[in-house]
Amino acid sequence: MEYKDLEIWFLTGAQLLYGGDAVVAVDAHSNEMIKGLNASGKLPLKIVYKGTVNSSVEVTKAFAEANNDDKCAGVITWMHTFSPAKMWIHGLKEYKKPLLHLHTQYNEQIPWSEIDMDFMNLNQSAHGDREFGHIVSRMRKPRKVVVGYWKDPATQDKIATWMRVCAAWTDAQALRIIRFGDNMNNVAVTDGDKVEAEIRLGYHVDNAPIATLVPYMDAVTEKEIDDLITEYERIYDFAADCKKGAKKHPYVRDAAAQEIGLRRFLEDKKAKAFTTSFDELEGMKQLMGLASQRLMAEGYGFGAEGDWKTAALVRTMWVMGHGLPGGQSFLEDYTLNFASDNSSILQAHMLEINPEIAADKPRIEVHFLGIGDAKTCARLVFQAHPGEGIAATIVDMGNRFRMIVNQVDVIEPQPLPKLPVACALWKPQPDFEVGAGAWILAGGTHHSSFSYSLTVEHIEDYAEIAGMELLIIDKDTTVRNFKQDIRNNEMYYLLNKALS
Ligand code: MN
Repeated sequence: MEYKDLEIWFLTGAQLLYGGDAVVAVDAHSNEMIKGLNASGKLPLKIVYKGTVNSSVEVTKAFAEANNDDKCAGVITWMHTFSPAKMWIHGLKEYKKPLLHLHTQYNEQIPWSEIDMDFMNLNQSAHGDREFGHIVSRMRKPRKVVVGYWKDPATQDKIATWMRVCAAWTDAQALRIIRFGDNMNNVAVTDGDKVEAEIRLGYHVDNAPIATLVPYMDAVTEKEIDDLITEYERIYDFAADCKKGAKKHPYVRDAAAQEIGLRRFLEDKKAKAFTTSFDELEGMKQLMGLASQRLMAEGYGFGAEGDWKTAALVRTMWVMGHGLPGGQSFLEDYTLNFASDNSSILQAHMLEINPEIAADKPRIEVHFLGIGDAKTCARLVFQAHPGEGIAATIVDMGNRFRMIVNQVDVIEPQPLPKLPVACALWKPQPDFEVGAGAWILAGGTHHSSFSYSLTVEHIEDYAEIAGMELLIIDKDTTVRNFKQDIRNNEMYYLLNKALS
């Protein structure tokens, strides 16, 4: 997935009422604005001006082209003059990609002493954008409305956030997820309706027997393993018993072969996300811990124990955060630490945490894992650095998917000399009691996709594009209001389904 292969199209709304001079001016102003936005250095995707639309025919044609062009990840609309919104109906009806309505104005301030009716014929976004907004609301089309002067960095930041989500949405429409094994037996929250997920969210989930992966690992040459071990030695520390020549080094070599084989397998299948299961190891010497950590750092989505929804979300959030500092990971609510105002949740997993979130150089260790068939596994051990982040999850509520996002503060953990796993320690916002309580009331999973790079706004934009329920847990959350939100949503989604 390359941001440089994607574009955001820009349509300026107008009408022919004001004469040819006005149309020429609208075009010139639009070009200047898009040039300025692209030159701001703030926007991750290039904006391409697709002209001024003055009629229903032009609008419909522009949106049809946007639908059919693989490069187009979304459309921004802006009404420079008044654009009677009936002309947008047919185009909007057909349009299937993300939409951003930019409520801005070519002129920053009113030219008090100069302003005349010619100026007014041209600079009409104050009412033109309201007319356009009406028809989008009337048609119940999802969209992001960004209000602000186009040169203002805060306005550009909001567009940039949405663009990242557009890139991730585009990626998800062609995303293939490979599951090695089914969901962990009897687990409810990580399961769900894969057909509905493909209809609503775009991605496709396939099964692959682990036996089809084993030959890929067996085919890895000693030379390839040597080279990868050299890379490990360059970027990680090694526990004494894992170094070259030491007793457990063969397990590290085996993990390196798993990494190379797994990457090749996923490339062959054109898959960008995968799940594993500690009950599904037929023909392998260890659960793919180190390989999962390394591939997550490259942008592969990962979910443990068959958790395909989290694997998809980890991939999607990686694409959203592509190139931003911070990093992200699959995580699991591991164990609780009650300490009054400092109560926190240790986030970890047996093996599979993305080393991108490490505070210090990760260390390769090999230990026996007494669960399922996992056996003796190599893994990177580290602790995540302090900082603010978000944890998100998607659950299947039976009649809809629900996104839950929690703002969290990662804090410094104590050393864990006898628990050789990668981990993060966080306090959910607004505090442990409300944060954890709201998450449980929402039915959120024990697995999440965590990111230092993204904000709640990215998840809001995603849920809007997907037409998905969103529950936000942050500093403003109270359990009383949160429960009422859940009840209201229940009614809203039931009615919405009944009426659609
Ligand atoms: Mn788990």
